[in-house]
Amino acid sequence: MSSLRSVLDELRAEDLRLLSDEALADHLDEIERAGRVEAERGRGVAELERRRMFAADGHLSAAAWLAHRQGLSRSVAEGSVRRARALEAMPEVARAFGEGEISESAVHVLASAHEAAPDAFARSEPALVEAARTMAFGELRRVTETWRLAADPERALEDEDRRHERRRLDVSPDPDGMTQVHGEFDAEDGQGLITAIRAQMDAETRSASGPDARTPGQRRADALGEICRQWLASRDRPTVGGERPHVVVTIDLESLVEGSGRSGRLAELEDTCPITSETARRLACDADVTRVIARGASEPLELGRRTKVVPPGLRRAITVRDRGCRFPGCGRPPGWCDAHHVRHWADGGETSLDNLVLLCRPHHRTIHRGFGVQMVEGGPTFTRPDGSIIGDRAPP
Ligand SMILES: [Zn+2]
Ligand SMILES: [Zn+2]
Repeated sequence: MSSLRSVLDELRAEDLRLLSDEALADHLDEIERAGRVEAERGRGVAELERRRMFAADGHLSAAAWLAHRQGLSRSVAEGSVRRARALEAMPEVARAFGEGEISESAVHVLASAHEAAPDAFARSEPALVEAARTMAFGELRRVTETWRLAADPERALEDEDRRHERRRLDVSPDPDGMTQVHGEFDAEDGQGLITAIRAQMDAETRSASGPDARTPGQRRADALGEICRQWLASRDRPTVGGERPHVVVTIDLESLVEGSGRSGRLAELEDTCPITSETARRLACDADVTRVIARGASEPLELGRRTKVVPPGLRRAITVRDRGCRFPGCGRPPGWCDAHHVRHWADGGETSLDNLVLLCRPHHRTIHRGFGVQMVEGGPTFTRPDGSIIGDRAPP
């Protein structure tokens, strides 16, 4: 015991700031090999259970005894006992772990394989330990999963059913104005989700030029948002209450007029939080509009027809002219673009070819957030918030 302590004291005495990169890496390896300490803990806990020492102290289980004596949380103590039992049942794994040949994470994966099919595991134990010794962790997990399917197909099928039952998805707006998404999917639908998001991200990467400042998390969120938007925009959606599903924004007409946003009037979405009139102006650029004449705040008197701000024929014409986002250096395809009113229709701008320009969603947001666009001789000229012109290096 005292020699273990002296080794740890020696490690502690190192001034890490003085180590070379290589020595720091060695230092971390040395500590990882302290997994051997974990293996020893396993042996000790197994012996503790065998002797039922905890009963002499009036405890009902080894976990309770450990938690009390070592000041551990109950779940940590229980995990420690579970691992000790698993290591007892997997002698080859215990040996390799004790010699520092395999990591604690690998032991975890092997233990769950053992739990799934104990007899078959005993026969395959040397091969699985060899896999743990030589493979990267992700690879090991795949190999043990494949092994499990083969070792006990019936149990594997039950596991699959159980996972399918666990599927769930919660989507709820939170008080901070964000929408929280939490869910679990089985392997099949999970793969579908990952594939769709990845494909959308790839397509965006291919169509964008220049570096992308977004984090991977932001890119995934944008991709899922775009997938939903395209789903909603597609023609053959089933109708709900006589209409195709769509996002509804409710706003006073006066609030759409430029500058009125400063009066603090907000636009409303159905389920999430109120949005600023600036965002409502962007959404209204290229949307379907229904005029509702109302008395007071909530008494509708007359409901107009729902009409497209940009009629399909005009949109086709803009698509032919612009062929994609016109922001300098962008060029994302028309399917991802909104038709932006250079002078907003709420401010009296005309919905005509020479007042409209195709912008992808991120650039449409940019333009409604301080950047500018003017039509000069039938073509758009973009400006930074300071008024300077952004050069268009599009091919002649
Ligand atoms: Zn716009
Ligand atoms: Zn763009």
